[in-house]
Amino acid sequence: MTKHNEETTGNLSGADLSSEELLPSKKKNKKKPFYKEPVLLAVIGLLLVAGILLGIWLRKPKDDLSNTPDIATATHDHQATPFVKKETSIPTATNVPTEVPEVVIATEEPRTEVITYTIQEGDLLTEIAERFGIWPDTIIWANRYEHGTDVLEYNAGDTIFILPVNGAYHKWYQGEGLNGVAKYYNVTPDDIIDFPGNNLNRDTLGSLSNPNITPGTRLVIPGGTLPDYFASDALLYHAAVQKLRSLPLGDAESYPEPRAEIIAYEVREKDTIFSIAEDFNLEPETILWANRYIIGDTPDGIYPGQKLIILPEDGVYHAWSYGEGLNAVSRTYGVTPEDVLAEPMNEIDEESIGDFALPKIATGSFLYIPGGKGMTPSWVSYVPTNDPSVKRADVSYLGPYACQSMLVLKGTGAWQLPTPSSYISGYEYNPPVHNGLDYGGTIGTPLFAADSGVVIYAGWSDRGYGNTIVIDHLNGYISLYAHIMHGGFNVGCGQAVPAGTTIGYMGSTGNSTGPHLHFEIRYNGSPVNPHSFGL
Ligand SMILES: [Zn+2]
Repeated sequence: MTKHNEETTGNLSGADLSSEELLPSKKKNKKKPFYKEPVLLAVIGLLLVAGILLGIWLRKPKDDLSNTPDIATATHDHQATPFVKKETSIPTATNVPTEVPEVVIATEEPRTEVITYTIQEGDLLTEIAERFGIWPDTIIWANRYEHGTDVLEYNAGDTIFILPVNGAYHKWYQGEGLNGVAKYYNVTPDDIIDFPGNNLNRDTLGSLSNPNITPGTRLVIPGGTLPDYFASDALLYHAAVQKLRSLPLGDAESYPEPRAEIIAYEVREKDTIFSIAEDFNLEPETILWANRYIIGDTPDGIYPGQKLIILPEDGVYHAWSYGEGLNAVSRTYGVTPEDVLAEPMNEIDEESIGDFALPKIATGSFLYIPGGKGMTPSWVSYVPTNDPSVKRADVSYLGPYACQSMLVLKGTGAWQLPTPSSYISGYEYNPPVHNGLDYGGTIGTPLFAADSGVVIYAGWSDRGYGNTIVIDHLNGYISLYAHIMHGGFNVGCGQAVPAGTTIGYMGSTGNSTGPHLHFEIRYNGSPVNPHSFGL
């Protein structure tokens, strides 16, 4: 992560391009054509020529997203690391060649065989996918029997299947039919039967409803997708880390306005999200929105040495998730699909992405949307109840530890401090970037219910808050207590808590640089300044 500039220089130094650097450097050239230094300009010219030559060498049909330069990358990678193994333990209809790299490079034909790869220390799932020319989702769709759909279950040392094309890898079960299996993955039986790597023979296959396929056989489902699949936050985190690795490192002095490129900035001592924004002449929310996959919905966890994505202008940087539609995503940020397509840095065009409703955009691809407006992190929505005087809040956005309490204990409206001291150690109330107050203290400092209510969240939140408690005061107000210490919960979800109850203990979990309580009050979902209640 500390070698962005060195990597750039390395790429520029000559034709001895290593495979891993090849892709990022090509993208970099497209994204930042204007260096100030003439030497760099000259070498960029050389690189462009090299890139064009490589492009010609690897030319292939435009609508095939699954191969092109990535074949070369994957191939070189195999040669450099002997971790591509023959698949032996599982019955498969797929031939697994022992000489994968040579076969691919010699024929220039799309690979049809499934290969395996052993995850290396430091590998990001999105990087592995890019290296092999497939979507990150395909890795999950191919390995879910062994590793599930949670990115965190894919660790260094694990050997995973790498499909030759985007799609799923199906384990055949006794009694299955091809129509049903195809329908499950949203493809046709012919898609499966005709895929060469599956080696299915129509003459001996028998009926579609009871085909002659040995249980346990693995079949590539080209173009297949897993129903109800959404890319996890963890996968988008991988994508953001990979993006940061690929960006040039700089600051406001080395990249003065007008900036043409997206850069990475390394946080310094005493930096805040507000001071960084000021240095780059950006709105603070632009910093937050471009980095929310890394830092979540709160800037509490910005620490010296951390790298942040800096956009050239105010706007948003969206990490694509499989299943999203271009119209909806654009609408979210107040722009049109045409605006997104028109941004050259996005490297997408209407022809290549196809259907706007399910465009061919790899999960984890970043879309730069200048002028786009992100949403204020809105972690609460409301569900109707039979009693019009009671609004029940839904905070499942925060994570899996939300609950609907059946109890009723309404807030008094008389707020009290959530900590023994009113000392603010971190951010003040500064919406939409910081929507609450950071009370200082030490690990283990007791935290109090700021008013009476019912606990509707108690557990870990991936949104940057760490261990979190949310209290619904059932009068339109909700309070949130974040970064609670490990094992520091004193109440459970659903519990009714009178004002002043010790609900837990201060910690530094989640994105936090030190012990403090991140405390928010919301009214009908909108942030309220706790100072306005004398807190
Ligand atoms: Zn905070």
